[in-house]
Amino acid sequence: MRVIICGAGVVGACSAFELAKRGVETVVVERAAVACAASSGSGGFLARDWCDGTPLEALARRSYVRHAELVDELADEPADEPGENWGYRPVETLSVAAAEGAGRSASDAPDRPAWLDESCVVQGRLGTERDTAQVDPGAFTRAMMAAAQARGARLMIGRVEAVAPGRTPAVIVDGTHMTADAVVLALGPWSAIARTWLPIPAVFGLKGQSITFRAPQITTTHNLFVDYRFADGSTAQPEIIPRPDGTLYVCGLSHQTPVPLDPWAITPDADRLERLRRMALHVIPSLRDAEVLVERACFRPVTADGLPLIGPHADHERILLATGHSVWGILNAPATGEALAELLTTGETKSVPLAPFAPSRRTGTGR
Ligand SMILES: Cc1cc2nc3c(=O)[nH]c(=O)nc-3n(C[C@H](O)[C@H](O)[C@H](O)COP(=O)(O)OP(=O)(O)OC[C@H]3O[C@@H](n4cnc5c(N)ncnc54)[C@H](O)[C@@H]3O)c2cc1C
Repeated sequence: MRVIICGAGVVGACSAFELAKRGVETVVVERAAVACAASSGSGGFLARDWCDGTPLEALARRSYVRHAELVDELADEPADEPGENWGYRPVETLSVAAAEGAGRSASDAPDRPAWLDESCVVQGRLGTERDTAQVDPGAFTRAMMAAAQARGARLMIGRVEAVAPGRTPAVIVDGTHMTADAVVLALGPWSAIARTWLPIPAVFGLKGQSITFRAPQITTTHNLFVDYRFADGSTAQPEIIPRPDGTLYVCGLSHQTPVPLDPWAITPDADRLERLRRMALHVIPSLRDAEVLVERACFRPVTADGLPLIGPHADHERILLATGHSVWGILNAPATGEALAELLTTGETKSVPLAPFAPSRRTGTGR
């Protein structure tokens, strides 16, 4: 069997790995570079049970387990950069409230990180090292793609221009027709372009900003979910993620706006970036002297009902969708790839049911 995967973000890379592992001839077509978009610009925060009670529960729990398993499964394999690993580690996770201009807080939570500004209030513990973890998402995605290639998958840099359904679907890449037994569309927020070839539910892009600082002084694992109030009364919910490589990632201030066709054309918004920087420097005063390593923006793929689209197209079973993972794409990519690979090789999914994510469902718009 030959499968063409369109898009080498985390969902495409994990799908390629699981297919190649099962001996399927796999080609990944990527327009720009592996993990060039949200799959490297995101937080990489993972939670075992934050999706409990929702249709995502089984997918998230299975993915959380797979993230830990993959560390051992690929332990002896070099990633694409010698020495690169993807920084998987269990973390403590706190909810924090902060307000611009606020004075010293009376909060003295026992596990309060010493690097937090004294005006911040620790509202509670959201997770512990037993049930929350993190990865460096870009390194993880590249490692999954490298592991797929080590198992025979082929990566092709080229722009998917169209997909033609049929018994042997075709993908047109830079004017060249490539045929396959099945095609997986893992185009993230660019899934919208597929609507010019096929009727699929709408997928939107939500743009988020992020800043990565060099911060070796942050030596605890605390990931922070912050309720922030600016002096003008506006609010924001930034996420603060220290990484084991001595960097600290901060993201937030998402909004819906058109996705540029070229992934390299995405640029951060100066005003939102400035507000994000202000929040970060207030919450962690030692960042005032820290070097800024990266300032960027990226889009998460969102559907109208908030659930991903995973599985065969409603009318063309040889074309499968794997997109719309929203805020949990890094978490949920491993079980997404595993389930798709099971479906394509055995005709059924054993690890997690895909029914809640069927592309044939009514998502509320676009069908
Ligand atoms: C600020 C921010 C923080 C986040 N934090 C977290 C987090 O902490 N935890 C978590 O689990 N998730 C998080 N997410 C969500 C997560 O990043 C996404 O859900 C995930 O990266 C989506 O992966 P993807 O593979 O579907 O899409 P993408 O990573 O967008 O990949 C799609 C790929 O398709 C390629 N492509 C586009 N057009 C074409 C074409 N015509 N031909 C070929 N290839 C094409 C693109 O170049 C790209 O590489 C966050 C997202 C954002 C924006």
